[in-house]
Amino acid sequence: MSRYFSEKYSRLVPYTPGEQPARGEISIKLNTNESPYPPTEKAIRGAAEAAAYLNLYSDPEAKLLRAALAERLGVEPDEVLPTNGSDEILNFAFMAFCDEGSPAIFPDITYGFYPVFADLNGVPYRTIPLKDDFTIDPADYYHAGGTVFIANPNAPTGIALTLAEVESIVAANRDNVVVIDEAYVDFGGESAVSLIHKYDNLLVTQTFSKSRSLAGARLGFGVGCVDLIRDLNTVKYSTNPYNVNSLTMAAGLGMLADDETVMARCQKIAETRDKTAAEMQKMGFTLTESRSNFLFAAHPAVEGDVIYRELRKRGILVRHFTGARIRNYNRITVGTPEQMEALLGALRDILAERT
Ligand SMILES: *Cc1c(COP(=O)(O)O)cnc(C)c1O
Repeated sequence: MSRYFSEKYSRLVPYTPGEQPARGEISIKLNTNESPYPPTEKAIRGAAEAAAYLNLYSDPEAKLLRAALAERLGVEPDEVLPTNGSDEILNFAFMAFCDEGSPAIFPDITYGFYPVFADLNGVPYRTIPLKDDFTIDPADYYHAGGTVFIANPNAPTGIALTLAEVESIVAANRDNVVVIDEAYVDFGGESAVSLIHKYDNLLVTQTFSKSRSLAGARLGFGVGCVDLIRDLNTVKYSTNPYNVNSLTMAAGLGMLADDETVMARCQKIAETRDKTAAEMQKMGFTLTESRSNFLFAAHPAVEGDVIYRELRKRGILVRHFTGARIRNYNRITVGTPEQMEALLGALRDILAERT
């Protein structure tokens, strides 16, 4: 730390992103929940064509993208705000809706960026423990007295709340915003977007990083009533009006134009997930019921970090966690069927050696 670093950030512990190994170092990358499938031709061509106009600023209003998103989601363009990854809309929500009087509230085991955003913005926060089986009890969030953040499906557990459960939380917190982070919803969750016309305290966030093959483009968005989106725009125009670059907007439009392909891929990933989970169960793994594009798994006979390291030796990278309740678990992104076959083969080897 330099002696110039602002006092208000000096104790900040930044978020640790999953490793992005150099190409060639790892043969099967299952650690950051990216799509195993590349962007579609339309997305690639769109970005390439947009490159010819990089001398101009991107559209700060993202008009074309908002129109396409609104149509896809069944909402109005003024109810959508595209951002630089969904991390940015989440940060905007901490900036816009949290303070001393409305602290941030989220589960003890969830997306690791929430406490970082709270600390970055000087916002107090409180965590609510998941139940022993890693599920969320919706009633724990009724009349929470703060701005609620819930990832649905949750990460790294993959477990989803039903739409009725989400609605019960939103309805029981009318004096505070409830943010539902739907980064993984396309793999089998129920989206709460349809509720934004009923509840003016609901903000739903989604991303193109997981289901839409654009993690490297950085594109996410928020959906909520016009007033919430206006507040978030006040924050956006005070931070970075050109927050989404023109290549990314074009690529996003391309992926939306190929929505049928995208949804078929999500379906395929969900099937691969369930087959892989069934095979791992036969090997003795304990798994959560994942509705996302990853598995969350522990083995009673081999420690989580041993499995992580042994997989890595075999060129397979997964994500290992060190938190007290989850240190025995690994989070494994669902890749192609071929990648999952390789994973299962490696796990069989490791168990044969270690048990
Ligand atoms: C991946 C992820 C995000 C953010 O992803 P972006 O790439 O910034 O869109 C947000 N929430 C959860 C729960 C995630 O897993």
